[in-house]
Amino acid sequence: MNYEAVIGLETHVQLKTKSKMWCGCANEFGSPPNTNVCPICLGLPGVLPVANGEALKLTALTGMLLQAEIPSFAKFDRKNYFYPDVPKNYQVTQYDKPSTKGGIVEFEFNGGLAKVNITRAHLEEDVGKNFHFERNSGVDFNRAGVPLLEIVSEPEITGSEMAYEYLNALVEILRYGGISDCDMEKGEVRCDVNVSVRPVGTVEIGKKIEIKNMNSFSAVRRALDYEIPRQIEVLKKGGQLSQETRRWDDVGSMTETMRSKEMAHDYRYFPEPDLMPFAPTEAWRAEVAARVVELPLAKKQRLISQYQLPASDAQTFTWDRPLGDYFEKIASRSKNPKAAANWIINNLRAQLAESGTTLANLKFEPDNILELVEMVESKKISSSIAQQVFAEMFDNGMKPAAIVEKNGWAQVSDSGAIETMCDQAIAANPGPVADYKAGNAAALNFLKGQVMKLSKGKANPNVAGEILERKLKAS
Ligand SMILES: [Zn+2]
Repeated sequence: MNYEAVIGLETHVQLKTKSKMWCGCANEFGSPPNTNVCPICLGLPGVLPVANGEALKLTALTGMLLQAEIPSFAKFDRKNYFYPDVPKNYQVTQYDKPSTKGGIVEFEFNGGLAKVNITRAHLEEDVGKNFHFERNSGVDFNRAGVPLLEIVSEPEITGSEMAYEYLNALVEILRYGGISDCDMEKGEVRCDVNVSVRPVGTVEIGKKIEIKNMNSFSAVRRALDYEIPRQIEVLKKGGQLSQETRRWDDVGSMTETMRSKEMAHDYRYFPEPDLMPFAPTEAWRAEVAARVVELPLAKKQRLISQYQLPASDAQTFTWDRPLGDYFEKIASRSKNPKAAANWIINNLRAQLAESGTTLANLKFEPDNILELVEMVESKKISSSIAQQVFAEMFDNGMKPAAIVEKNGWAQVSDSGAIETMCDQAIAANPGPVADYKAGNAAALNFLKGQVMKLSKGKANPNVAGEILERKLKAS
């Protein structure tokens, strides 16, 4: 019997707000422990939380980006549990009336497009962080109360690779929308994985096993690569799986039982009495809708069709959004957008990395790239000279035409001048000349290179090639 995996993912993302969810404390990573805290996020008695307006907007914006429904009524609930990093002994979340319902994430997978439906995205608060030292433990509450969005997928993911691509596509959308930076190093994205297996062709979902608190997508992939075969193995041997929560041990490359269903929490959800339900108005929705951006996948597809870029270039401009924006400042006015893309991806990006400069601090305007492309296209300069022009333009910000003029780099297409240089190259290299005559066509390239050298890169290489060929065949 063959088995298939059924995977659903719950992705927790810290929202990019200035302050926490219910108080004015800074939503800031890396501060000294317990410095971004107040009576509200420490859960002291008698305090009153006030919902962060921007967090509500970012949640709705996420819903709009995922084509979800934004219900006209949402509320907050208390999820009760005792844990040292939860100062209130409950977490405020959204239980039965979330801020968004449904939605879809579309992404490239297996050479085509895959779609995963979203159940809901709801708003809640992050918890503090426990630290265990040699002789004692401590809790840092700086993270307690940071707005957290939980995005729950339908159990439609069928394998580790698909899970990995889904997660990457999801965070790319969230980054594009300015919802979150999704910085894994800072723990801004965490993921719970629900995975079960069933015989192929059946509909009933097997015993659901949850792998908690994954903080890297590659670890999710590794955990599934371990867990799916493990479950299939148990069933094939006639064993039983039980619903449980497991932990991924990245060092040992295995999952292990954390708690079984019998030990599952009863969270005793009830409506949060200190917070008003939320009923978005039309004006509020319109304000959020104005922040909807083009999604990464749509952008990639548009770059390919609008500018005839290869998929790899379009992908680069989608991943590196500022670089893509830079390209689009000139692409529509360029007769050869692909050439402009080459300069930006190959030269500009490399020079930026090498010099530690950013696009915002560039000394030249994007239009300089246009001018450079046109000078090569119209054969005013050779492509090797263009490289030097680019380097100089990067350093001093001068216009390409001015740089060419200053250095006397204009391409020589005048056949008289090139003819003289071809004669010199032939006279100075009897060996390669003999090789060429003996049928070694590659020797022509060597001779062409010599002519380019004599001309200091200014000779039109095509003209040089033609003249050389003519002269060699005649001699
Ligand atoms: Zn606070």
